Amino acid sequence: MASESDERYREALKALEEVTGDVDGVQERVLAEILSTNANTEYLQRHGLAGKTDRRSFKSNVPVIHYEDILPDIRRIAYGDPSPIFSAKPISEFLISSGTSGGERKMIPVAADNSERIYQIRGVLLPAVLNKFVPGLNKGKALYFLFMKAETKSPAGIPMRPVLTSYYRSSQFLLHEYPSIPHTSPIASIFCTDVYQSMYSQMLLGLAYRLDILCIGAVFAPIFLRAMNFLEQNFHDLADDLEHGTVNARITDAAVRAALEAKLTSDPETAAHIRKECSTKNWQGIIRRIWPEARFLDVIVTGATAQYIPSLEFYSGGLPLASTGYASSESFFGINLNPLCKTEDIAYTIMPNIAYFEFQTYKSQENGGQGEEEEIELVDLANVEVGKEYELVVTTYSGLYRYKIGDILRVVRFYNKAPEFKFVGRKNVCLSLETDKVEEIELQNAIAIAESTHLTWRNTRVLQYSCYTDVKTVPGHYILYWELSSMNESENLPQKSIIEQCCLTIEESLNSVYRSMRAYYKNAGPLEIKIVKNGTFDELMENAIAKGSSADQYKPSRCVKSTAILELLDARVVSNCFSPGVPSWSPVPRHF
Ligand code: AMP
Repeated sequence: MASESDERYREALKALEEVTGDVDGVQERVLAEILSTNANTEYLQRHGLAGKTDRRSFKSNVPVIHYEDILPDIRRIAYGDPSPIFSAKPISEFLISSGTSGGERKMIPVAADNSERIYQIRGVLLPAVLNKFVPGLNKGKALYFLFMKAETKSPAGIPMRPVLTSYYRSSQFLLHEYPSIPHTSPIASIFCTDVYQSMYSQMLLGLAYRLDILCIGAVFAPIFLRAMNFLEQNFHDLADDLEHGTVNARITDAAVRAALEAKLTSDPETAAHIRKECSTKNWQGIIRRIWPEARFLDVIVTGATAQYIPSLEFYSGGLPLASTGYASSESFFGINLNPLCKTEDIAYTIMPNIAYFEFQTYKSQENGGQGEEEEIELVDLANVEVGKEYELVVTTYSGLYRYKIGDILRVVRFYNKAPEFKFVGRKNVCLSLETDKVEEIELQNAIAIAESTHLTWRNTRVLQYSCYTDVKTVPGHYILYWELSSMNESENLPQKSIIEQCCLTIEESLNSVYRSMRAYYKNAGPLEIKIVKNGTFDELMENAIAKGSSADQYKPSRCVKSTAILELLDARVVSNCFSPGVPSWSPVPRHF
């Protein structure tokens, strides 16, 4: 007999066919709805829209913007100005993005109905699509490692929190998504902001119900790998609790303890299995041995997190890696309609009914450009072309108009009339472990500060540098390769303590998301500087020219992407140092 959720999935798939079959019509209606609802807002009036809801007026009056262009208005809201600046609906919260501006996290104002929009995609459509590929998914359990982050308030008392923290608190998640595919993680564990207790309790019940679990995952790959690492370090305690049906004394959060005590019973058989599997030296394929019914690993592995695919494949024992959704604090964008595909084929279909989307043609360096956008009229969602790259521009119900997200996407094919996009990358980002993003200019400024503080007066300069995100360590960390000017034939290196101070100064100068990962969440390790021999970067250039680069146009790559370059740099390292401290971080943005 068809269950209520089977019926809901059928309806969601039917709606998917309808909206992807009429992308342009849906987009036109979405834009008209956004503009008519928000017709009396200050922003639209300022740009002379005065109630006009057609595309032509919108495109000729409203400018394409970056976050910085609307920051003064965002600050007004944060300080308590109740006027309808962007949105006719009152702003209920700020979503704190991992994107940064001036070193601080962006604050995206949203209205209360934002969670409903997210739910329609990740709570209804996504499970319907997954259920198509894994029938009966809704009859089993899911182990998702989910975490809430610390939240603060703006000066006027408006809550400021990451989008997922906001969503997990919403009734859409708590009353509908969470129970529809029963999660093994208790709500109390997801709400617990102590990472150890939250992780321990989610893992404990994930092990207790291991034979019922059909799907296992986390939002992004690094947190999932952290869970694997946690299991390796804590399996003795976890197995003891499973054996006796007890809860370890380190779990002090009363709600978490109560949730665990309500679910756990003594299970010596499971405890013995976990001890046996986890104490073997070979962890390859361990996920299949612990969760034998799991059909796929649900984690995002595109963009910055693609670097974790080899580690995930090591643990997963051949389970598909399902990278299911593409979203940001500003808006949900799309989903992968073929979620069990190979990782190299992952593409996201932008949902035309969630926001209004435009695309600015982008010419990457590989395609003969300088990594820039073409200043021509923006292309609509229905009109993008296969093979071309674009920067995503979005107009949302909460009142962002023609706002550049900063992501570069390439069209790979169409589903009905809806384009499917490969995520190419974040514009100008050179270092990223997970949600953190360090742009080239930001790194350059941070190095300049370290250089002037610690090196210049010692007659030393950083001649050339490259950077690399090392995810082989747990947690991952940033590495900078430096060639210094003072190093003469006798390899007269500055003292180690001076380079260590450079590491810390750079960390202090990087954005708040990175500092929070170092100082609070502890999911980034100390920044490392590796000093390379004099002449190393010349050697890199000669190699590139020998392979066909034009000598005139050769630019050193700030960000090391090839294994050959990495190996060459590592072979030339004469010394290395790690940051000796932890950079400062406060949840309250510095501009308040
Ligand atoms: P945030 O606003 O902190 O949620 O960050 C949103 C950004 O994360 C997006 O603009 C992308 O750069 C990145 N992102 C989100 N989902 C994906 C995905 N599926 N693949 C690659 N990058 C993603």
